[in-house]
Amino acid sequence: EHGGSFLVVEDLHAGYGDVRVLHGIGLRVGRGEICAILGPNGAGKTTLLRALCGMVRGRGTVRLDGTALTGRSPDAVARLGVGHVPEGRGTFMPLTVEENLRLGAYTRRDRAAVQADLDRVYGYFPVLKSRLGQAAGSLSGGEQQMLAIGRALMLRPRLLLLDEPSLGLAPLVTRELFGIVRSINEEERTTVVVVEQNAHLALDIAGQAHVLETGRIVLSGSAARIRADEQVAQSYLGYR
Ligand code: ATP
Repeated sequence: EHGGSFLVVEDLHAGYGDVRVLHGIGLRVGRGEICAILGPNGAGKTTLLRALCGMVRGRGTVRLDGTALTGRSPDAVARLGVGHVPEGRGTFMPLTVEENLRLGAYTRRDRAAVQADLDRVYGYFPVLKSRLGQAAGSLSGGEQQMLAIGRALMLRPRLLLLDEPSLGLAPLVTRELFGIVRSINEEERTTVVVVEQNAHLALDIAGQAHVLETGRIVLSGSAARIRADEQVAQSYLGYR
């Protein structure tokens, strides 16, 4: 499946003002695949996701299913079906669980479909249904991450971008979360790009993986191949 062309990134450069972070990123993700982006702190993983979703201006090519995303606003990119779950989650703490989820459907007007999507999200995350009237700020870290993913799902994304979903979560909670991400991917064929420090978990669910270092991809391949790479093993798989 390598070389799929649902998401195509070519020679992507991006940064913040004069600070250049990404130096010519190229990768391809096939429709329905899960792609993991690994790499050390500061490598540019978060910046890559921001460039994909329009939060950071990039130079180069980003195409989703043939449509150019480069140069579009985050809102326009969201309307084209890209759901972004940022690091730190970005949920609105004083709002209830359900209000947060409804915000995720802001691009949509069809009330009945929004209700159906709420039910769909509650199907993946039953704990959110049991807390639907509670303030998001009262949820546990894992529940807040579920809420953030649920909110992105309300867009009916074709591409889901997950930034460090395991951050600050207990291993058991992380495992459950990744299991749900896999179910979403399998049941809806949602293409997923996941940035993770926890390489073991990411490689468990990913088909392809890329290792990013100082703004460049230094290694790409099947998750199995990346897992077997000695350098990767030393740098990123030394813990579980
Ligand atoms: P982490 O896992 O720590 O989030 P990362 O691989 O996601 O690391 P980025 O967050 O993309 O890396 O950061 C890459 C580089 O860009 C770092 O040197 C960082 O200091 C810089 N950077 C990130 N955000 C900004 C910003 N808003 N303004 C200026 N520089 C930034």
